Amino acid sequence: MPILRFQALQDVQHRSVQLPKEEGRRSLSYNMNVFGEQAMRQHLPKSAFENVIEAIHKGKKIDRITADAVATGMKTWALDKGATHYTHWFQPLTGATAEKHDAFFEITTDGHVIEKFDGAQLVQQEPDASSFPNGGIRNTFEARGYTAWDPTSPAFIYDTTLCIPTVFVAYTGEALDYKTPLLKALQEIDVAATDVARYFDKNVSKVHGTLGWEQEFFLIDSALAAARPDITLTGRTLLGHASAKGQQLDDHYFGSIPTRVLTYLKHLEQECLVLGIPIKTRHNEVAPNQFEIAPIFEEVNLAVDHNSLLMDVMEKVAERHYFKVLFHEKPFAGVNGSGKHNNWSLATDTGINLLSPGTTPMKNLQFLTFFINTIKAVHSYEALLRASISSAGNDHRLGANEAPPGILSVFIGSQLTQVLDELEKVTDGKLSPQEKTDLKLNVVGKIPEILLDNTDRNRTSPFAFTGNKFEFRAVGATANCAHPMTVLNAIVASQLKAFKKEVDVLINESSMKKDDAIFNVLREYIKESKNIRFEGDGYGEAWEKEAKKRRLSHHRNTPDALDEKISPRAIALFESLQIMNAVEIQARYEIEIEEYIKRVQIESRVLGDVARNHIIPTALRYQNVLIVNVKGLKDIYGDDYKVLAKEQSLIIKEISGHIDALNACITEMTEARKKANQMKLVPKSKAYCGKVLPYLDKIRRHCDKLELLVEDELWPLPKYRELLFIN
Ligand code: ADP
Ligand code: MG
Repeated sequence: MPILRFQALQDVQHRSVQLPKEEGRRSLSYNMNVFGEQAMRQHLPKSAFENVIEAIHKGKKIDRITADAVATGMKTWALDKGATHYTHWFQPLTGATAEKHDAFFEITTDGHVIEKFDGAQLVQQEPDASSFPNGGIRNTFEARGYTAWDPTSPAFIYDTTLCIPTVFVAYTGEALDYKTPLLKALQEIDVAATDVARYFDKNVSKVHGTLGWEQEFFLIDSALAAARPDITLTGRTLLGHASAKGQQLDDHYFGSIPTRVLTYLKHLEQECLVLGIPIKTRHNEVAPNQFEIAPIFEEVNLAVDHNSLLMDVMEKVAERHYFKVLFHEKPFAGVNGSGKHNNWSLATDTGINLLSPGTTPMKNLQFLTFFINTIKAVHSYEALLRASISSAGNDHRLGANEAPPGILSVFIGSQLTQVLDELEKVTDGKLSPQEKTDLKLNVVGKIPEILLDNTDRNRTSPFAFTGNKFEFRAVGATANCAHPMTVLNAIVASQLKAFKKEVDVLINESSMKKDDAIFNVLREYIKESKNIRFEGDGYGEAWEKEAKKRRLSHHRNTPDALDEKISPRAIALFESLQIMNAVEIQARYEIEIEEYIKRVQIESRVLGDVARNHIIPTALRYQNVLIVNVKGLKDIYGDDYKVLAKEQSLIIKEISGHIDALNACITEMTEARKKANQMKLVPKSKAYCGKVLPYLDKIRRHCDKLELLVEDELWPLPKYRELLFIN
């Protein structure tokens, strides 16, 4: 089997990588394969176009006549662009995107061949969805689910297939995907934020969430990846000794992008642009072979779809460049893992970013209102927000001294801290004219319009204010952004509704002026949510202790963190906003628990197999080489061999020691799995976490020691130094 490793290494050098065509101006190719506003204007009758725009911007329902007109226009557009198939494109709870292609091609009853696609096919389909996770919502005998068109995310053509973004729900109405609850949460934040924004500007009639994600990933050579069963089956390395050179020289971050990678990225960016994904930034990340790309931010639902699509496109383009993309949160031990920062804000239909400080005290009061309400929401639901980013992969990252810990906190920077400290002193009740003037001139009026430079420095915070947006940094690189975005928008919506109620009570029942009422409520929020604000080093042990004192939750692993998802508070939140009902919440919880168990189970099996089938036999083979050597020395030198073969004898013993330990660990791990498998879902997940997972580290340690002992030529798996340094 070592042949595999060398073949893989040789393979890297004998191939021609496909070069992307020269690019023209990017603005010319942007949205080329998207049935967006421009394409719709060209291909739809005026009334249908107007109805779709109303549906997008005002949530108006689309009638059958409009749907037929859209389908006809969409079909012509797609066929002109060479599309042969169409599909409803959705995001089931597996984390990947799903599609089932149907050809436009059809034969009529009288034998004519036509291309068919009408409103019925556009609006709804009934895929047999029994194989998607549903958390016990449906039995296989009632497996029908249906997909329904989401007109707010435009259709696009990818690889000659017209893809229509859809929601995916059970026949009985429960959501089975990420998009359905997200759309509902976005609707809630629209209503809640619009109501509050109208305190400041009556012209606001809609608010939408904005999201700009930053996608981190590793690229490794596909031949090398194929020679590693752990990467192939789990997306990460389960063993491998650290490379002598790793990230310690800090020479990769923002360094010049390796030529082979740049060729790939250029190709990828071209594909993204025609699909309407507005990629803007690319750079090397901290670890060797780690990179990041980020788009211009968009409306949340669209940005979520674009991130899911991007991950798919990244893998497909990578195949053509002989790369494998690793999205796993921790593909390599000892070097940084990958996250997906979610930059989030709220924007009005009057063009205002509600989290951007303005030029006047009034605009700043509006900014502070949304700013403080967001902090308050995070404080109230910190455990739920933590749960929204938990996964087996992200467990390796959170709290591992390279990423935010599993404690949620908010960083706002010293300037805004000062402002909040001042506001905390506002008089209880009506404000005197003098106090109001002072506040407006010296506190609210003093917030500089551009805070960006002062706020982006604390990289250890999981939820940081970065000048004109919050950056949720603890999200994992494999995550579908929809879930953390659903939770964030839901908690802020709920908070804004409570705020509006409280302010209105003060205005109506205590006859306060609007500003006085707002200042009064904000003052209380600042006090109540103080514990979530943390400006120090989030990586240190001191923070863990401090957070405990502040009664912030600290869940170190997924099974523990997930409990919060089914807490009465969480259920009450989602039910009151009509985003999800208790059945849907419970189903999602079970799906995530199951996924966690399966991931750890697969990793444990793969490592057990690799240790037994690759590592132990290789170690034995090398040990035999040494034994032959020792015997030979004895034949030639008689008793003197003891001195001459001293080193060899030691290694022989050491190898035996590791093999012994490995065998014991693998057997114990298998027993731990067997025991866990007898348990019910929740205790099972905790047993996999507490009893099985620790063996992965133990087994790895022995394998990695053997890697250093055994002759390089015999070692069957590509090593870290080969995987991590692209050439
Ligand atoms: P970094 O955080 O790496 O310094 P930037 O702050 O420039 O980089 O932007 C990171 C991401 O934040 C980008 O995707 C950008 O489009 C996005 N972003 C900027 N403004 C907003 C906003 N108002 N709402 C949501 N995302 C935003
Ligand atoms: Mg950022």
